[in-house]
Amino acid sequence: MGRNRGWQSGASEALRWRPGATVTDIDPRAATGFEGDASDGRRLLSKRGKRLSELQELLYANGRSGSEASVLLVLQGMDTAGKGGIVRHVIGMVDPQGVQHAAFGKPTAEELSHDFLWRIRRELPHGGQIGVFDRSHYEDVLVVRVHGLVPRSRWEPRYDAINGFEAELAGSGTTLVKCAMFVSLDEQRERLAKRLDRPDKYWKFNPGDIDERAFWPQYQDAYQAMLDRTSTDVAPWHVIPADRKWFARLAVTELLIEALQSQHLDWPPADFDVREQKARLAAS
Ligand code: AMP
Ligand code: MG
Repeated sequence: MGRNRGWQSGASEALRWRPGATVTDIDPRAATGFEGDASDGRRLLSKRGKRLSELQELLYANGRSGSEASVLLVLQGMDTAGKGGIVRHVIGMVDPQGVQHAAFGKPTAEELSHDFLWRIRRELPHGGQIGVFDRSHYEDVLVVRVHGLVPRSRWEPRYDAINGFEAELAGSGTTLVKCAMFVSLDEQRERLAKRLDRPDKYWKFNPGDIDERAFWPQYQDAYQAMLDRTSTDVAPWHVIPADRKWFARLAVTELLIEALQSQHLDWPPADFDVREQKARLAAS
């Protein structure tokens, strides 16, 4: 990479949702904050993947010695935005033992009989883990709001409930990394077309995804409200332009690295006498 290539400032600084911003102004093809092309991005991704993996091991080691510190990656985005690709290509670079993954689809009858955060709480990461949510509690102010699955009087208080919930999580050692992935309507058409062209992609296709395209403006409104109302100091949102997969993956990798670094973890000290154990080993 040449001079001035790479991230121009921190990724979280570049991508953080800015109060007053407008969802319809987001350019899904942008590489916000990054100077370089796809091959620069891919090269950097594999390098940063190694750093991410080291930091994840550090987190895991701390968890083994009783630390409460964890990370929770929240992925929201329309169908085909690339949430699954983040799981495979970004989270796939770290040791799966330390990952707590959950995908949230349509709630079951049992889940519906509880508060909307019930199923979320059950999947939270423990100390030392990176939790990954493919969709999340935010569906309850997105799809639910767009389709009026419950009356406004039920979804409206959820923004405050979510802020309270996330503040509680942050207070107990979880660093939240919230990523709103924005794919364009055109790019989504291409990605859906690919799913219809390739037998190995049929499994990802859902005819309902085409119906959802008609609700694009309503989803944009719902995303706007979500970003305006739930981007807080302890749990800010990041906007991930997602038409270029290499960029979305690089961006989320960098956000995770920054989140882990912000925890300032050290390797846990030995809870045994190292010299004594070396001597015992030599004599054995
Ligand atoms: P996928 O992520 O492609 O497996 O699709 C999951 C589907 O479940 C999407 O259409 C989501 O909008 C839907 N979904 C997720 N959470 C909820 C919820 N709380 N209420 C209704 N639908 C939901
Ligand atoms: Mg889907």
